[in-house]
Amino acid sequence: MSRLDIFINRMVSQRACIDFAVRETAATGGPVFELGLGNGRTYDHLRERLSQEEVFVFDREVASNPASTPPRAQILMGDVMETLPQALRRFGATARIVHADLGGHNLEKNDAFARKVSPLIEPLLAPGGIMVSSDRMYFEALEPMPLPEGAVEGRCFLYRRG
Ligand code: SAM
Repeated sequence: MSRLDIFINRMVSQRACIDFAVRETAATGGPVFELGLGNGRTYDHLRERLSQEEVFVFDREVASNPASTPPRAQILMGDVMETLPQALRRFGATARIVHADLGGHNLEKNDAFARKVSPLIEPLLAPGGIMVSSDRMYFEALEPMPLPEGAVEGRCFLYRRG
């Protein structure tokens, strides 16, 4: 499988899993957290499916396409190891969806970081809330979910708080 195939599978899976999470949590209120703004593509998809006011974005910098740059009030700027505990104090366990796409090209580093950041993400989810991640996560209380149609195994991961 070429790098292009892997990239396409990741993009297709992100969209399928985000759309699934939006549908599944339609009856749940609460904020949506986008961890890793990057170019802003998945942020733009989330705000198109939901609304700009519902989506809060976490990144250590803003380097997104101007067409998909969040308003300053929606950005929690800094290292997520610091901004996630701040978000817990501000929002409590209220998140409807957390989408994380924080990784780079080094799979071992991504996995080590997923282990470190999982305990900081877990308490943010509301009951029934869904976590969508590009990396396998390490949660104690969140249940892994099967992927929806259109998503590719291993390219996206879903978890739910019961
Ligand atoms: N989903 C985005 C999109 O559709 O354009 C791409 C996200 S990009 C792969 C990863 C982003 O995560 C980068 O912008 C990087 O700055 C951010 N990031 C990685 N580690 C971080 C950390 N520890 N704290 C805050 N942001 C981080």
